[in-house]
Amino acid sequence: MDTHKNTNKSNRYHEFIVWTIFCMCLVSTASADRTLVQAGAMNLLLEKEQEGVRVLSLFDNTTGQELLAPNTPPLFCIELRHAKTREQVTLAADTGWRRIEVSDADVSGRRFLSFGEPADERLKGISAKAKLQADSADSALTWDLQVTNNNEQWALWRIVFPQVAVKYLGEGSRVFLPQTAGIELSDMWDTPNKKGGTYPSGWTCMQYMAAYDAAGKTGLYIGMHDPFGSTKDIWVQGQPDQRAVTFRFEHPVPDMGKPGVDFDLPGQAKWQLLRGDWFDAATIYRKAVSREAKWWPALGPEGRTDTPQWIRELPAWVMTGGGPSDCVPRVRTFAKELDVPVGFHWYNWHQIPFDNDYPHYFPPKDGFAKGVAELKQAGVYAMPYINGRLWDTHNRQTEDWQFTKTALPAATKDEKGNPYTESYGSKEADGNSVRLAAMCPSTSLWQSRIRDIVLPLFNEYGVSGVYIDQIAAAQPHLCFDTSHTHPLGGGHWWTEGYWRMLDSIRAAKPADCMLTTECNAEPYIKWFDGYPTISEVEVR
Ligand SMILES: [Zn+2]
Repeated sequence: MDTHKNTNKSNRYHEFIVWTIFCMCLVSTASADRTLVQAGAMNLLLEKEQEGVRVLSLFDNTTGQELLAPNTPPLFCIELRHAKTREQVTLAADTGWRRIEVSDADVSGRRFLSFGEPADERLKGISAKAKLQADSADSALTWDLQVTNNNEQWALWRIVFPQVAVKYLGEGSRVFLPQTAGIELSDMWDTPNKKGGTYPSGWTCMQYMAAYDAAGKTGLYIGMHDPFGSTKDIWVQGQPDQRAVTFRFEHPVPDMGKPGVDFDLPGQAKWQLLRGDWFDAATIYRKAVSREAKWWPALGPEGRTDTPQWIRELPAWVMTGGGPSDCVPRVRTFAKELDVPVGFHWYNWHQIPFDNDYPHYFPPKDGFAKGVAELKQAGVYAMPYINGRLWDTHNRQTEDWQFTKTALPAATKDEKGNPYTESYGSKEADGNSVRLAAMCPSTSLWQSRIRDIVLPLFNEYGVSGVYIDQIAAAQPHLCFDTSHTHPLGGGHWWTEGYWRMLDSIRAAKPADCMLTTECNAEPYIKWFDGYPTISEVEVR
């Protein structure tokens, strides 16, 4: 007990010394243009420069560790595009503003960083305001950002926020990135690698990153707590010449490219002092999403209450496929040998070829309903495959039977109005690759089409589950179809479109039936009973 007390006393003494040295450093360089923000054991130092604001220091007051890399990139970048010429320019936090203000903390500890009157006269009417809240209990800084655009020629395109570079924290330091199941990287300070991608997808599945030292004594948690699961790019990038790693969130603006449209950060960004490693970072993120995220499911004492008990207890799965006469006897034998309930992920139950002529899954192969019933008798729960995103552009063999006539208005489209198409190796009868259009989840046509496939599978064919491929795997497309009801490009309409589709299916499905999808992008968990996920665990 005494030893513990002495350790605490020693820690406090150490903190005092470190803090004193830190304050002396500040005093020696202090000026009216510097602002120190204290958040528990973390201190942030901001400097107001002639044309912007820079982050000078992120300091761990307990360990005496500076976390911020020298030459850290600007806190935000506003990418603008001219509505007619499509010229692009960038306004960053640290330069190009004639009016800058860093407010004192108000009674609740909030500060505002205001940026106005761009030096580039063409950008008149564009301003930005960052809100900063210090949280002493968690040693955390919470950021918000609004960009106002009263310019009739220039439009917001992408917003990079927040952006921070963490210095090398010593041998064995690591970076956590939410790729697949989450990966730890030890080489980011030594290589110029850029890793990350578009969220939400199976390869960028959550909205937080972290950097920490080998002993877990110090580090930084960097999160976007966006309850809507808006489309965004999440990147880490190494700068080996500076032994720095930059962490960055990039937000394609809702109604990107439209002059006069503002931007409001969806949710809040968080920098928090991290004690521990990826696990401790995960607990910070879990606390936030379980409280705020629209996709967080209702949980009882035993977890999900809206998921059938049989899937919660299912001990084994088999994945194969084909016509019932082919696969049903084999799957029954498999289940008999195991002598436990078995789930059957059933591919190619339909007459159309795989990844071809989607979404015309009906009629199924002969004897499908009978095969499903036989399997159920044998303790096997059938879960057929369908795709939740794609419509074949030649949807009756090589013929454009219904694509242009029916599907095209509801397909995702680029700025030129061309549908985004994808090929996966399947071939048409003429040898050409099958070109599948990614359908826009915001459209009622696509929402009702998937519903009209899933519900008959439950109600007419008796399956126990449906696997709806790609929803939690494929990243959103920036759809620019002005006839759709969503904002152009960025925003959270992609997730919300799927939420509406899945709400209507879940409300109508039999209670003992379930839904799954591919991979593990987080913002769909509330609507699926399982995420069959095939991804490697990577530690380097
Ligand atoms: Zn669309």
